[in-house]
Amino acid sequence: MSKKWTIHSIREYVEKNTDTKLLSTEFQGFSQKLDFECACGNTFQKPWKKFKENKQQKCEVCQPPKESR
Ligand SMILES: [Zn+2]
Repeated sequence: MSKKWTIHSIREYVEKNTDTKLLSTEFQGFSQKLDFECACGNTFQKPWKKFKENKQQKCEVCQPPKESR
C-alpha cells in the first residue's frame, strides 16, 4: 500500500506480471496516464492506479471496460 512506485519499479512490475509493455519514461503520480503497449500491438493509456489496482492491464479491445455502477 505504501510502496513508492517509480518508473523503474513500474516497468519491472509490468514486465513480470503482464504481457503488456510500458512505453512511458516518466511517472508523476497514480492519476497520471501512462502509455502502454498491449500484447496485441495496440497502444493505450491508463493511470497506474487503474492498471495496478483494477487490473486494467490490456487495451480496450482485449479487455473491454466493465460497466460499473
Ligand atoms: Zn490488446
